[in-house]
Amino acid sequence: MNIILIGAQGSGKGTQAELLATHLQLKPCASGELLRAAIAAETPAGLAAKPYYDRGDLVPDQLVIDMILDAIRDLGVARGILLDGFPRNFTQAQALDARMAALGERIDKVIYLDVPRNILLDRLSSRYVCEAYGHVWNVKTHPTRVPGICDHDGSALKQRSDDKPEKIAHRLDIFFNETIYLLDYYRMQNKLMRVDGTSSIEEVYQEIISDLDPSLVRQSAVSTLPDESSLS
Ligand code: AMP
Repeated sequence: MNIILIGAQGSGKGTQAELLATHLQLKPCASGELLRAAIAAETPAGLAAKPYYDRGDLVPDQLVIDMILDAIRDLGVARGILLDGFPRNFTQAQALDARMAALGERIDKVIYLDVPRNILLDRLSSRYVCEAYGHVWNVKTHPTRVPGICDHDGSALKQRSDDKPEKIAHRLDIFFNETIYLLDYYRMQNKLMRVDGTSSIEEVYQEIISDLDPSLVRQSAVSTLPDESSLS
């Protein structure tokens, strides 16, 4: 089964991606993470992507398409993949469809985590990550024991460069003005599942899993939950 998770930043798609990948044994592929790794490693693609990333703009299609399609090729799709953050527009969706078809595969399901903009704004402006490993915390909903210090590794917390208040509104604009139209693309293909992303992590997970694999319903995901605040 090949799945796409669509949701604005702060919708919880990173958290759900981790749970679903674990429980359904899918290979996760998150475009934002691939880009952050490329930027940190200062690869040519990372250096080209950095100015866009730092402004909160979408990285140019060709750059991100090449990166993700290479990752999909390297992952293989034997047990299925779970895409998080890609595609974000029609060009990317069509490139993905073409690549999947070339591999003899297809996207089976597209899950949209629906969260109103005001809640997203609130979640994102209080989200922090640790400098050492990027553990995600939230000063309102999931604070560290010592303010500003990661519980897991003791490193200092910082805001992601694209989580600064002035960038957040811009990124949400891009989602609601551009990415949201992908929902029609997948709805017309009868692949879209809309989930209320304001529910708890466990409730959202159960709703998704009841559609994808009812045999897993009621097996709590809590024991494998990542940090509650990792709403990316
Ligand atoms: P995310 O971690 O999904 O919130 O993505 C962080 C940033 O990476 C976005 O604001 C974009 O700058 C960039 N990015 C991630 N995925 C894509 C994509 N599919 N297309 C273009 N830019 C992307």
